Formats: sequence, structure tokens, C-alpha cells
Amino acid sequence: MSDCIFCKIVKGELPSTKYYEDDRVIAFADIDPKAPVHILLAPKQHIPTMHDVKDFTIVADIHKAAQIVAEEQGIANGYRLINNCGADAGQIVFHLHYHLMGGEKLTSF
Ligand code: AMP
Ligand code: ZN
Repeated sequence: MSDCIFCKIVKGELPSTKYYEDDRVIAFADIDPKAPVHILLAPKQHIPTMHDVKDFTIVADIHKAAQIVAEEQGIANGYRLINNCGADAGQIVFHLHYHLMGGEKLTSF
């Protein structure tokens, strides 16, 4: 989608700090980190929300990439992988993404 900021990051039209990339998934630093490690994982394909996923293999690909990035970041002992699905859940960017967060003791909720 031409006006989607994460599609622009995928295409290299917006700058990002990349941590992982394969043919289907990209991981890059959140611009406003809420934890010492706060990395976003997204499909390269534009899918607005988790609720729009039809081919669930992309979810497996993202989870696999999250494992790799968590290992590389040294947070494999504990991290969160969070998806905000829809406006009422706090989703702001409508290109599917998961927040990989860790690097500190995360509070329970
Ligand atoms: P969400 O509320 O789940 O839609 O989260 C969107 C996230 O995208 C927020 O944590 C933002 O800080 C982050 N974000 C917005 N613009 C950018 C950008 N250009 N590069 C990296 N992260 C971004
Ligand atoms: Zn997009």
C-alpha cells in the first residue's frame, strides 16, 4: 500500500534499523521503544491486521523470526511478542506487526 509507513520501510523508502529480513518477514527497531529491546516484526506483504490473516503460515514465519531475533538480542530467557489487533486494542499502524519486547523484568498484567 503506497501510503503505509511499514510498506515504505519494507521498500526502503523510509529509514529503519533492521534486525532481520527474509523473503517474507522484516524486523526493525520501534521508533519509540517501550523496553530496552523493542523490535517490530512484520510481513513484507501488506496485511492490515491479525484479523485479516488468511494464510496462517505468515504467523509461523513471524514467530520463527522472533525466536532468531530474541536469541541475537540475548533475551531468549524472557520476552513478549505482542500484537495489537484493531483500533480498540491500540493498533495505530494498520500493517500487521508484532512487538518483540524484553531486556528487563517485564511487569505482569
Ligand atoms: P501499534 O500501536 O501496535 O500499531 O504499534 C505501532 C508502533 O509502530 C508503535 O510502537 C510506534 O512507536 C511504531 N512506529 C511508528 N512509526 C514507526 C517508524 N517509522 N519506524 C519504526 N517504528 C514506528
Ligand atoms: Zn503496509
